[in-house]
Parts: sequence; structure tokens; C-alpha cells
Amino acid sequence: MAIQWDQMASDQGLRPGPEQELAPEKIRPICGPIPGLPAADPAWIALMAFAARYYRRPFGTIAVGLLPKWLRDIKNYAAKKEGGRSNFDRLMGEVVAAKDETPQQSSASEPALNLDQLAAFEAIQKPGVFVLHGVTGSGKTRVYTEVARRCIESGAQQQVLVMVPEIGLTPQLVARFAQALPGVEIAVLHSEVTERERARLWLSAATGRARLVIGTRLSIMTPMPHLALIIVDEEHDHSYKQQEGMRYSARDLAVWRAQNIGATLVLGSATPSIETWAQIERKKYHLLSLPHRATGEPAAPIELIDTLNDPAKEGLSQQSRSAIAQVLADGGQVLVFLNRRGYAPVLSCGSCGWSSRCPDCGVAAVLHRVDAASLATAKSNTTSVIARGEAPRQSTWRLQCHHCGIFASVPRQCPECGDSDLSPIGRGVQRLEDTLTAEFPQARILRIDRDTVKQGKALAAEIEKIERHEVDIVVGTQMLAKGHDFARMRLVVVADADTQLINADFRAPERLFATLVQVAGRAGRHGQAGSAARVLIQTRYPQHRLYRYLLGQDVAGFAKAELEDRQVAGLPPFSHMAAVRAAYRDETKTRQLLRTLRDELQQLAAEHSWPVTVYGPVARYPEMQAGKWRGQIILESGSRPALHNLLATAEGWMAQHRELDCHVDVDPVEV
Ligand SMILES: [Zn+2]
Ligand SMILES: [Zn+2]
Repeated sequence: MAIQWDQMASDQGLRPGPEQELAPEKIRPICGPIPGLPAADPAWIALMAFAARYYRRPFGTIAVGLLPKWLRDIKNYAAKKEGGRSNFDRLMGEVVAAKDETPQQSSASEPALNLDQLAAFEAIQKPGVFVLHGVTGSGKTRVYTEVARRCIESGAQQQVLVMVPEIGLTPQLVARFAQALPGVEIAVLHSEVTERERARLWLSAATGRARLVIGTRLSIMTPMPHLALIIVDEEHDHSYKQQEGMRYSARDLAVWRAQNIGATLVLGSATPSIETWAQIERKKYHLLSLPHRATGEPAAPIELIDTLNDPAKEGLSQQSRSAIAQVLADGGQVLVFLNRRGYAPVLSCGSCGWSSRCPDCGVAAVLHRVDAASLATAKSNTTSVIARGEAPRQSTWRLQCHHCGIFASVPRQCPECGDSDLSPIGRGVQRLEDTLTAEFPQARILRIDRDTVKQGKALAAEIEKIERHEVDIVVGTQMLAKGHDFARMRLVVVADADTQLINADFRAPERLFATLVQVAGRAGRHGQAGSAARVLIQTRYPQHRLYRYLLGQDVAGFAKAELEDRQVAGLPPFSHMAAVRAAYRDETKTRQLLRTLRDELQQLAAEHSWPVTVYGPVARYPEMQAGKWRGQIILESGSRPALHNLLATAEGWMAQHRELDCHVDVDPVEV
């Protein structure tokens, strides 16, 4: 192991990650291997070792920590009586007994590939990274299933890994693969499976029995000894980045893993990430395009509504209202999109200017209306504040912090001046739902957001309602934006994207552009008599560059412009970034300590002529969380080895300042 480690470390020009120093007397001898447990695949160990080094975590923490919890529980290996079977024996029996059929001919119900899909399918023949850039509705999934089928049929062992950003998207995708690959064992790995089931699926993949694994980001860590093809759907999605513990990017690890074992990698997206476009320009990735919708319907035209001329009264402009009325009259469906949960972003006092804030995080506490139904199912501890002294009513109100999640009751009067005239400021998706209900009393309206839908299964049920046309207007957040194909959706109204447009994060335009392309893609996928499909965006900034590319449906043009900006500013992918973050109750002390770290790192970089710039300390958003001030310093460099050298020093410093609650984030997605 040690030899392999050192070789790999020097291959990458990186030092090993931090190893915990243990006193020799604390290290226990190994009793022996567990009979029946498959031996660790060397390529999987290499992946763990790379992840540990790259994302700066101890190897043992990762390799052991990523084993399913059930398999780490020693009790499961002991038989209750001598000669009896242990829990593990029984589980392994299930793994071995699972149907082991040979792949059958694909059922005839799968549509034939169209010319674009066929061209993409033919191109994905050899190992390498292929970017499948397909407009929304172009049938990327059809290419995935066909590529997976060819891979599985090419030999007796080949395994395929398919990753999706969100659990809500898995049921549909699993159904598509099951249909295309009858008889093939599919392991579906996501956060909602039980621990024992996770262990069973993991063993099934590790023994090579599961030929196809479908899962969310954690599935990249699944041992698959015969892995030959990895497909990352919606590769641009930030859900692939883990935000706690080891802060890995599952998409980036997929690239490394595929290259390390000589597998084929397909990165699919309607809006590939800017990093991916850069690799296409450098000729490292092959670009394949699906420029047309599979149904043959043209993309719905996107129109801007300047809210200076046509104000969004109660959230909706006059043009939006008439367009909605028209589609409803024609029997079509409408999607109204607003990426803001709750009723109003803040509650404010008209007399003194007081506004609702989270006491721990310092950010605005969002006003939510809690419907009677969800109140009954919510955990009792979260609603005790509201329930106190009051009989449950039809609906009730509360304030919620979207960062730490704590709830508070709504004050009857202003806590500062005692005035009872408190009013909600701004608009969330609940308030927009009220506007729609008032304007279209006959319409059946369905709201979908994280407050109405908490699980993947629940989302699937809501989506079926839309498909069965039990709903006329859907109003919702980002949750609805991707992957769903609604036959009757004729109109998409984006109520407000302006706050995201003026966000200071350098990735904000990229994120917003991707979201708007996805949302717009819901309209008019299937031909229908009546009103033409349309997309309306209400904005105060119709001149913004982002809209110019959006109106032209020019994804590549937008990426090119963003890449030019990033190059000028020296931002990723033209440099590499890492953040050293700290949280502590005293802001002054935290800033002061981070400043000493910054100076130390700058001095070290200067001594060795390492091209690393160190910025900060700056506050993170939100500044306070759980009573601690949160700050960070940012390291930026064109050289990864130099960056990692400084991180090694930073980790030494972190070990001496444990009170600060520090962590390192390599390639942070939010800065
Ligand atoms: Zn007041
Ligand atoms: Zn909070």
C-alpha cells in the first residue's frame, strides 16, 4: 500500500493528505480477514487514495468511512450460536441468490435512435471523456441507455455507473434503464435506502453482480471491479459537490476514475459547466451535440417582460396574466417559476424598520405559512413554538432560517417598538400561489417546493398528478426545473430571477443561466393545438448579457463569454482555488488568527517562489451560524502542487487551533 501511495503521490505532484498520528499502543492488531467479504479492488483503493490526497482527508477516514455502516458493524459477522449463520452470511446469501440472467434483447417499445442520437452513440466507442451537450428534451437518456447496453453486452462482466444529481430524478431514470436492459441487475444507491439494503447493493456491485449502478453523488465511491463506463447526467449540477466532511466533487472524481482505469466517461448536460467547456476548448474532452428536441418540436421562444414598463403587481405582470389565461382557455398547463421558498423573504416593521432575523446566523428569517396538513406531519419539536396556547387553525405562520433551519413564532408586535403593524416584504412561492389563486379561481393549482415535497417518492407522486392533467398551474422552485417531461406544458413564466442576476459569486451567472435554460425547456416539448409554446421572464434588467444569450438559446456563446471573463480575472478554470474556513464565537479573534495564517502562507509561498495568492480573511455567507462567526481565506494558484503544499502547511496550523472548527475545501463551488 505504502509503495503505491508514494508512486501516486509523485505522479500527481501532490503530497499525501494529513495522516492522524496515533500512539502505537492505540493501534490494535488485525485479527484476520472476514471470510466471504470480497477483497478490495485495487482500482477502488487507488480512487480512495486519490480522493484522500486531493481533498485533504486521512485515507483511513475515507476508505473505512465510505463502507456501508451495516458492514462496519462487527455484530453482523458473529453467528448467534456455534455453526449458525451470521447476519452477514444471510445478506451475502441474498446477494449471491439474486437473479443472474443474461441480458435479453431490448424490448421493442424503446424508440429507435434519431440521427443526432445515432451519431453520438457511434462516437462514444473508445475510452475518453465525451460531453453530450443536448438541448432540453433532446433525448440524452436514450443515448445513455443505448451506450450502457452496448457496454454490458460487449462482455460477460462489464459494469456501468450512472450518476444523477438528485434523488428525485432517479425513479424515472431507473425505469428507463430497466426497460432498455431487461434481465440486468440494477443497484440503485441513494440516501433513502435502509442501511442493510445499502450494504446488499454495495456487495452486489463489489462482487460484480450488479452490472448497472444508478445513484447520486456518493455512488462514485462504489467499488466496481469491472467498471467500463461512467455516465454523469446533468454534470454541471452543484449537487455533485459534497458540502461537508470530505468536500469532494463526484463529477471530478468520475473524470479521474475513468481515466485511471481506462473507462469511457459521458458527461451529459443541456448547459455543460464552464470547466467542462474549457476542457472541450483544450481538446481534452470530445463534444457531441444533440441540437434538436427528440419530438421534433422547436424550442419555445423566450421573451423578456421589462417590469419597469409592465410592473409585476403582486408578483405578476399584465402580460404574464393574459398569457396564463390564454393557455388555460386552451386546456394547456402553465409553470410559474420562482426560486424562493416561503411566503416572504422577511417580515418588517413599518414604524421603526425592524426586520425578522435569525438570532444565530444574522440573516433574514423567512416568513412561512404552515398549512394544517403539513403541520400535522411535521416533527413535534419544530412546531412546538406555534402550537403553544393555540388550537390548530387552518393555517398558521412561522419564521424560519433557511441556513440553520430553526423556527420561531411570529411576534404579535414589533419586538423593538411594540407597533402591531408588521408586514411581509417581498415575495416567496407561497405568496405567488395566493396571487395565482386570486387571479385564476377556477384553475387547479399545485405548489411544489421543499416544504411540500420532502422525499424523492413524494416528488414522483406530484409529477404524476401533472402528467395526468390533474393540475392546470404548477408554481414552484428549482425542484421542478429539471428532467421532467410534461406533455401539456405550454407556458413557463419566470416570476423573478433578478436577485440571482446581481449575486456577487463569480459562478452565479453560470448557475442562473443553467436554471433558466432548464426551466424554459419545460415549455412546448410536445406539439399541441392551441396557443404556441412560450417562455416569459419578468425582469428589471432586460439588457443584461445573460439574457442576450438566453434569448438566442446560445449555450456555447454564453460559455465562451464567461470563459473570457474568467480568463481576464484569473478565475477557475484558469486557476485553482481552495478555501481554509474557520468558525468561532469571537469574530475579532477569528479574523486575527486567519490573518496570521494568511501572512504565514504568503511568506512561505514567497520563500519557495510558489505562485499562490492568498486572499482574506473574508466573511462567509451567512456570517453567523450556530452562534459562531464564519470566515475564510482563499488560496488561488495556477499550480496545483503549489496550492497543495500551502494547504499542508495550513493543516499544520489548523491542528494547533482546534478551537476554531476549521476545514479545507478544495475547488469550492461557492466563494
Ligand atoms: Zn418597530
Ligand atoms: Zn439561522
